[in-house]
Amino acid sequence: MRSYFIRTFGCQMNKHDSERMAGLLEGAGFAPAKSIESADVIVFNTCCVRETADERLYGQVCSLKALKTGGRPDVIIAVGGCVGQRDGASVLKHAPHVDVVFGTHNIHELPSLLEAAERGRPAVSIVGAGESFSSDLPYVREHAWHAWVSIMVGCDNHCAYCVVPSVRGPERSRTVEEIVAEVSHLVADGVVEVTLLGQNVNSYGRDRYGEPRFAALLEAVAATGIRRIRFATSHPKDLSDETIAAMAALPALMPFLHLPVQHGSNRVLAAMNRRYTRETYFQRIAALRAAIPDIALSTDIIVGFPGETEEDFLETLDLVGRVAFDHAFTFIYSPREGTPAASLTETVPREVAQDRFDRLAALVHSLSLASNEREVGAVCECLIEGASRRDAAVLSARTPQNRLVHLPLPDGTSPDSLAGTFRQVRISAAHPWFLSGEFAE
Ligand code: SAH
Ligand code: SF4
Repeated sequence: MRSYFIRTFGCQMNKHDSERMAGLLEGAGFAPAKSIESADVIVFNTCCVRETADERLYGQVCSLKALKTGGRPDVIIAVGGCVGQRDGASVLKHAPHVDVVFGTHNIHELPSLLEAAERGRPAVSIVGAGESFSSDLPYVREHAWHAWVSIMVGCDNHCAYCVVPSVRGPERSRTVEEIVAEVSHLVADGVVEVTLLGQNVNSYGRDRYGEPRFAALLEAVAATGIRRIRFATSHPKDLSDETIAAMAALPALMPFLHLPVQHGSNRVLAAMNRRYTRETYFQRIAALRAAIPDIALSTDIIVGFPGETEEDFLETLDLVGRVAFDHAFTFIYSPREGTPAASLTETVPREVAQDRFDRLAALVHSLSLASNEREVGAVCECLIEGASRRDAAVLSARTPQNRLVHLPLPDGTSPDSLAGTFRQVRISAAHPWFLSGEFAE
């Protein structure tokens, strides 16, 4: 049987798209390969949101050239996802040994493109948004107990720095019925946690129903009996009181929210076209904490956006400190061709951006540690995820607030037999990026 290997870059949406690619390939008779070098088909599912992922992709694709010239000429290399969508046939200029190029809107074509490439390479197919909707494709889940569930694709927000709307197209929501049917099926199949996915889940339904229906969707998904519901990503301008109330009222909704703020200065937020102010962001955080006192919060922050002054940056530090995020993902701005911000000329010198990034990272680090330290001694229900990535004798688990906990593997058990089960855990020690714990029963 021929084998495949998928290398995924980027966001959760891409991870879920890779599960769909796996579903299609297994449907077409391929089996998962043990390593990239041994695979008959290698698929790169790519990300172009930031320059780093983009560069890493081309680096890795080019390094596979040796595989083809060194005795495996028949191996098929496919490039899909956001870079495929953006670059189309010009992927072949950077990497002439690539056999298949496809985009974000035609994942379903992957098996036929592989066949076409076998007859005569290269096979390139990119289609625009709206010509297909990939949410109902079969997929192979990475874990038996967890599923990503796409509730919408695309984004209508057009933040000045962001390439997503151009590679993922406009917002298109699935129906509530379709999503509920998928989650019910997953529950019957043993899934205990779903993560609802969209670029801006709070505006779910606007395109289809003429108004956002995210809170109603959360209620309908909770009614399936699923144990845990998470979702990503939320835009602060669209986080409604109804959504906060649904999160507070529904026990399956976990007390955790990723709410990207991007910047702390109103001037920069306006230049980024984020359409909220730091004051309205603080107000949303206050509403969340009033309704869900134990909520944990994470965010995304960009430093070095064109025109950012030291004063603007200090406002970011101030906002981060005041909100006291439990976790934050920090990025140095990278210009993306075709976005409005790419033409801004007041660029921040690399060393200045790096210095600001380091100062922000130090603050985020100390806040994460302080947040974890507050948990020591607490007992909470954790979902066991399986063996930790680094040590097979250590279990990884998640608290309701999405904190990662490492636990010793009990004697005579295997990580796989415990994955997907809920256990009471006592937190015994805090580290910056994870907690240590022990079984409390
Ligand atoms: N839809 C989500 C995530 C989009 S991309 C949202 O709106 O939050 C994930 C993160 O990448 C963004 O939140 C942003 O912080 C970062 N990002 C996007 N474009 C970027 C760019 N050009 N340079 C640096 N960071 C960027
Ligand atoms: Fe990009 Fe903004 Fe849309 Fe997020 S909301 S995907 S940052 S345009």
